[in-house]
Amino acid sequence: NRIVVYKEPGVVAVEDHDAPKLEVPAEVAQAKGLTRKAEHGVILRTVSTNICGSDQHMVRGRTTAPPGQTLGHEITGEVVEKGSDVQFVDIGDICSVPFNIACGRCRNCREGQTGICENVNPGRAGSAYGYVDMGGWEGGQAEYVMVPFADFNLLKFPDRDQALEKILDLTMLSDIFPTGYHGAYTAGVTTGSTVYVAGAGPVGLAAAYSANLLGAAVVIVGDLNPDRLAQARSFGCETVDISADATLEDQIAQILGTNEVDCAVDAVGFEATGHGSGAGEAPAAVLNSIMSLTRAGGSLGIPGLYVTGDPGAPDEDAKEGTLKVRLGLGWAKSHSLYTGQCPVLKYNRGLMMSILHDKAHIADAVGATVLPLEDAPRGYQEFDRGAAKKYVLNPNG
Ligand code: NAD
Ligand code: ZN
Ligand code: ZN
Repeated sequence: NRIVVYKEPGVVAVEDHDAPKLEVPAEVAQAKGLTRKAEHGVILRTVSTNICGSDQHMVRGRTTAPPGQTLGHEITGEVVEKGSDVQFVDIGDICSVPFNIACGRCRNCREGQTGICENVNPGRAGSAYGYVDMGGWEGGQAEYVMVPFADFNLLKFPDRDQALEKILDLTMLSDIFPTGYHGAYTAGVTTGSTVYVAGAGPVGLAAAYSANLLGAAVVIVGDLNPDRLAQARSFGCETVDISADATLEDQIAQILGTNEVDCAVDAVGFEATGHGSGAGEAPAAVLNSIMSLTRAGGSLGIPGLYVTGDPGAPDEDAKEGTLKVRLGLGWAKSHSLYTGQCPVLKYNRGLMMSILHDKAHIADAVGATVLPLEDAPRGYQEFDRGAAKKYVLNPNG
C-alpha cells in the first residue's frame, strides 16, 4: 500500500506499508473495549484524497506527530472489501468518507456530534484518519484505506459514472466543503447577511462559497496572499489584503460603509502565531479582530484549528495553544462562539445534492488541482508556499 508519511518538519515521503486490514487500532480497541476485528468496516480503494491545511500543522513540525505518522483524512473511494456486519454499502460503491471517525452509537454520535465521538480515540473525544493524537487510525493519502463503522460513516454516491464525472467537486465533501459550510452556518449567515471570512485557504474559500449559498448579501474575504484573494474574487467575493497599510476596519468600511459585519468566520487558526510561515501576528489576532468586527449579538464560526503541543513554539503559552482572547469584548457584545471539528455527516448529503444538481461548483472555487500520489511531496511544498490551489491526490490512476 503506497501511503504518504510525515518524515520531519517540511518533509513528507510516499512509502510502502502493509495493506490495511479490517482492524481497529490496538490502542483504541483496548481503551474502548472494542473487538480488534472490524466486521463493521470496509476497505476502500482510494479514488481521490486531498491535502489539507490541517495536515500542514503536522508537516510544519508544529505538533507532536512522530516521524512515520501517516497522513490523509479527506478520502473518496470504492469499496473493495467489507466486513460481515456491513449491510448498506456494497463492493463497487463509490463513497465519500467524512474525516471524522464516528461509531454511530455513543451519546455524541446519536446527537449528531460526530466530531466528538467517544469511542474512537483513547485520549479524548473525536478522531480522524492519519492524524496525531487521534488513536492511530491510518491515513487515507494511500492506495487503500480502512473505514470503520462503514454503514454509519460512508456517504454513498447514487451513481458511479456521475460520481466519477463530478469527482473534483465530490472529493471536497470529506472535509472542506462541510467545514466551510459549518463555519458560515454557525456564524449565523442567512439571507442578506454581511460576512467577513478570515483566511482564503481552501477552508476560507469554502466558507465564503457557502456564505453565498446561504444567501449572504456581501462576503468579504481577508488574507495576505494575493493569489488566494484573487481566487475569492473569482466567485464574487469582495477581498481585503490584511497586510495593507489601511486597517482591516477601514478596508471593511470602504466596502460596506460601516466597519461592522453581521457574521464572521475564522478560517485561519494557528497560522497567525508568528512562527513558521504565518502572518507574524499574535496568536489570537484573528479571533480578536473578528470579535471587534462582528456586530453585537452576532456569532463567530471558528473552524480554524488552534493546535496544542507545538514543540517549536516560542513560549509556554503558545506551546499549550493558550491565547490572549478579548473575551470581555465578546461578553459585552453577547457573541456566540462555535469551534471544533465540523460534524461532516450533518451537511455532506445536502451538499452532495447541490453538487449533483449543479447548484454548487466547489472545485473551481477552491482551485482543485489533481496530482498523482507519488507527487504528494510537491503538492505539500506548493501548498505550504501558499499556492491558491486545493491539491487532490489520485493514488490509483
Ligand atoms: P491554509 O493554511 O491553506 O489557509 C490559511 C490561510 O490563512 C492562508 O491563506 C494564510 O495566508 C491565511 N492567513 C494567515 N494569517 C491570516 C490573518 N491574520 N488574516 C487572514 N488570513 C490569514 O489552511 P486551510 O486548509 O484553508 O485550513 C484553514 C484552517 O482550518 C486550518 O487551521 C485547518 O487546520 C482548519 N480546519 C479545521 C477543520 C474543522 O473541522 N474545524 C477542518 C479542516 C481544516
Ligand atoms: Zn482536511
Ligand atoms: Zn460515537
